[in-house]
Amino acid sequence: MRRLIGFAALFAFAAATPAAAQDATVVIHTSKLLDGKGATMSNADIVVVNGRITRVGPAAAVPKGAREIDLRGRTVLPGLIDVHSHLTWYFNRKDRYHTRGDGDTPIESILAAAANAYSTLMAGFTTVQSPGSPEDADLRDWIATQGLPGPRILTSLNALTHGSPDTLRMLVRQRKQEGADLIKIFASASIRDGGKQSMTDEQLLAACGEAKAQGLRTLVHAHSAESVRATVNAGCTQVEHGIFVTQAELDLMAQKNVYFDPQCSLVFHNYLDNRAKYDGIGNYNAEGFAAMERAIPLAAADIRKALATKGLKITYGTDAVAGAHGRNAEDLICRVKDAGESPMHAIVSATSVSAESLRLGDKIGAIAPGMEADIIATDGDPMTDITAVRRVSFVMKGGKVFRNDGKN
Ligand SMILES: [Zn+2]
Repeated sequence: MRRLIGFAALFAFAAATPAAAQDATVVIHTSKLLDGKGATMSNADIVVVNGRITRVGPAAAVPKGAREIDLRGRTVLPGLIDVHSHLTWYFNRKDRYHTRGDGDTPIESILAAAANAYSTLMAGFTTVQSPGSPEDADLRDWIATQGLPGPRILTSLNALTHGSPDTLRMLVRQRKQEGADLIKIFASASIRDGGKQSMTDEQLLAACGEAKAQGLRTLVHAHSAESVRATVNAGCTQVEHGIFVTQAELDLMAQKNVYFDPQCSLVFHNYLDNRAKYDGIGNYNAEGFAAMERAIPLAAADIRKALATKGLKITYGTDAVAGAHGRNAEDLICRVKDAGESPMHAIVSATSVSAESLRLGDKIGAIAPGMEADIIATDGDPMTDITAVRRVSFVMKGGKVFRNDGKN
């Protein structure tokens, strides 16, 4: 871990966080609760002490001095998790996608990232995994220790894209030293460039093998069927995107216990809706946009097949980029409406399954005793109307309330 969390930072944290938010017992009254593991409870109380859930069950006498929060009439669920979000991507003052060298200062860039983190948290996402930017580390640490409002962040720092097997092994060790929580690898080209395999089997074996030896997970960008097969066979732990997978690769992922993180539509629609802001930068050109348009029906069809694949673990990752932050729940709606997923299965994917993919299944992703108090509520019930996930009206992260519409 990066060692910026010294004594000064710890004191700043204590000063910025009122004691009441940390120490008091909080009792949350609910009428409908989804626990994140597939169970539904009626009229349950959630007791939170020092930011952790200590009891979930029938309403009982409220402990003396406890603060009460009434969420009856809403639907209560664990904080949502997006395992693929690029918080540092934003539109600059010229309303163009920010790239290095566009004249923006590091301060402008980090403020934009902080704003994205805030939007994400307010949308009910209490944890995100951000693959691919070194700036993520400071954002992660300031949110964790300095009171900056945002989701918990796990980051890969810079992704690995090329190099000899020895160089890749060295880079994996270097990322770990720099404080990366995971390793991000590009095994194929972008969807805008056709998605063909771009790292050899040998390179993937080196990178994923070293990461495994270092105790780190590996998130691998792979679109073509061959790149997905190579990724799984190299012992990597998660496949991102996989637009051109066939049933054989889905079965292989299931068999090898590799998590699959497909996107349903937000990332594609966001690019197309914001075309003028991206157009002309890198591979954001006519061909690239056409490729993304073609990907939309494929994406929903992939998810449909993935859902029917026995034993395949499907995480929830939107690949949120500039323009999409705060709309991370849109893929839940797509997965239910366009890919035929049951609302409960989709919610479990975006909570406990994604938590497990982060190796945090014992801390987040469920409402149960011993878990961090990451709790949200929606106006309306996502089980009967999945669009309710757009109407998050309560957000608690680690026992601290960041949003309670109508009550703040
Ligand atoms: Zn991405």
